[in-house]
Amino acid sequence: MDLTWSESETAFRAECREWLELHVPTPALPSGDTADGFALHLDWERALHAEGYSAVSWPEEYGGRDANIWQWLIFEDEYYRAGAPQRVTQNGIFLLAPSIFEFGTQAQKDWYLPRMSAAVDLWCQGWSEPNAGSDLAGVASKAARDEVAGGWRLSGQKTWTTRGAFCTHLFGLFRSDPTAERHHGLTYFLVPLDAPGVTVRGFGRLDGDEGFAEVFLDDVFVPDGDADPARGGVLGEVDKGWGVAMATTSSERGLTLRSPGRFQATARRLVELTRERVGGAGGAGGVPIDAVGLVDPVDQPAAPDPVAIDAVIDAWIGAEAYELYTLGDVTGLVEGRSPGARSSLNKIFWSELDIALHRAALDVIGPGAEAVGPWMTGYQFALSGPIYAGTNEIQRNIVAERVLGLPRDGKR
Ligand SMILES: Cc1cc2nc3c(=O)[nH]c(=O)nc-3n(C[C@H](O)[C@H](O)[C@H](O)COP(=O)(O)OP(=O)(O)OC[C@H]3O[C@@H](n4cnc5c(N)ncnc54)[C@H](O)[C@@H]3O)c2cc1C
Repeated sequence: MDLTWSESETAFRAECREWLELHVPTPALPSGDTADGFALHLDWERALHAEGYSAVSWPEEYGGRDANIWQWLIFEDEYYRAGAPQRVTQNGIFLLAPSIFEFGTQAQKDWYLPRMSAAVDLWCQGWSEPNAGSDLAGVASKAARDEVAGGWRLSGQKTWTTRGAFCTHLFGLFRSDPTAERHHGLTYFLVPLDAPGVTVRGFGRLDGDEGFAEVFLDDVFVPDGDADPARGGVLGEVDKGWGVAMATTSSERGLTLRSPGRFQATARRLVELTRERVGGAGGAGGVPIDAVGLVDPVDQPAAPDPVAIDAVIDAWIGAEAYELYTLGDVTGLVEGRSPGARSSLNKIFWSELDIALHRAALDVIGPGAEAVGPWMTGYQFALSGPIYAGTNEIQRNIVAERVLGLPRDGKR
């Protein structure tokens, strides 16, 4: 495998870095999961869009830069290196859009994609329901046929919709054939949240942010297919929504949502923090940390905690390993191999890595670690990583059955 970047890729990196250095807002924006923070993040999203950076890998006609997947990876790396804001448009651009490219009609691509990259339409994800989380095929929200009006009437309740309180549109699964078995008879709908019959009720999270929402649908009309995209529609075939949803979840669990640059940037900050906290006059007591350049050998700490330092090194290695693993993923994609169920491996790895990075930082800071502050806030959010995008227990089931080919539920 050739791990060197070409001249044009290096030039692309320099161009991205220069723009980001000039434009990333300072001080950092408040959380995009608060009403005020979300509004500020939208300004940032629109600035990205003006330069074709909001969706770099998309065709120019949809607001992108036609970047190839290697360039996309470079952009992501530079984005996180620059400490740029969280992407409040991610559920649309990174999750829904790949499924629109794959399953959407030309009319749907032409309508939804430019509005998505320009942060005009803001999408949230409507999978979970009060009685359907891990068991996504158990969704009870219904789609009833309306032959006269030429469309569907949606009813039910979605919950845990990230930033649903601030978004304009929802994508989600609804049961369109109540007689069909579980994974069959589901349809993937695109729903404007200002349609008559939709009620969005925002609620707070434990960490104080307020972007979660419950979405109630009461006889909400959505037209057939791509008949009138401004009023919503059906993505993919009626009753075949499970396959479309699995494509979306593959993006959510895999590389698209969590590129390696995010974790490498966190690992670099962790190393800087460790240098600040343990760097100083004295001896390191033989702690093997020089290899990753944590501490200048002539300026070693008086009493570093070897356990904390080991955790820093482990987490740093984890971030490097994730990058190398994802380079393999990208090579596969370039050669036409979709990761499919293997994206569950990524999801387990990145979610556990995120916790390890933040926990290592808190251990380096030690007792009296700030109760608030970026590392604590990051740690609290990292703790939700093994839950969202499908819990890690479920991902381990998928890996066991669909990647390793082990028998289901202990059956042989
Ligand atoms: C920060 C955050 C953001 C989220 N954003 C969204 C969003 O935007 N849109 C959306 O639709 N949802 C969202 N969710 C919801 C998330 O997808 C669900 O919480 C998740 O799928 C688990 O579902 P549940 O909470 O109903 O737990 P349950 O499914 O009730 O699971 C409870 C526990 O049982 C375990 N379990 C269940 N079934 C099995 C099994 N077969 N084998 C082994 N263990 C099992 C689970 O792993 C879990 O530990 C979000 C969640 C979080 C934390």
